[in-house]
Formats: sequence, C-alpha cells, structure tokens
Amino acid sequence: MGDRWTVEVDRGVCIGSGMCVNHAPGEFALDSARQSHPAAPETDVNEKVLAAAEGCPVEAITITLTGSGEVVFPPEE
Ligand code: SF4
Repeated sequence: MGDRWTVEVDRGVCIGSGMCVNHAPGEFALDSARQSHPAAPETDVNEKVLAAAEGCPVEAITITLTGSGEVVFPPEE
C-alpha cells in the first residue's frame, strides 16, 4: 500500500480564497462560512493536494504522512 497523507486546514488562518478548491476539485470544499476543509481527513498521495497547499496564500493547509506524522508541507525551515 502506498503512502497516505493526512490533510488539515487551519480554519483560524484560512481566508476563504477558494484557491485550494480550484487546485484540487473534490479534495477541498468551502463551508457556508467560506472556510475550507478537506473532503476527507486522509488521502492517497496526490499532487493536486500538494499544489493546493503550495498555492494557499496564507499557508493554512498542512500535509503530514499518515502514521509517522512526518511533515510533507509546509517544508521545514
Ligand atoms: S487556499 Fe487557503 S485560504 Fe484559500 S480557501 Fe483554501 S485553505 Fe483557505
């Protein structure tokens, strides 16, 4: 089985730009308060989800490897 990612959106940081939904349709959705959330808390490794995290203007999206918790995004300093 391949690696899985755990995807989280910090709702205190998200400004509801909707860019993540554009980058990864079906992987993120905006709620009625225009706050993004992942469609599922875990996903297979998915370049569109990574593009969404990279494209978020406020870096509200965090991706970690499910299980080990190793950070995939944002890259560590
Ligand atoms: S791209 Fe970032 S700020 Fe915009 S809706 Fe998605 S998580 Fe929120």
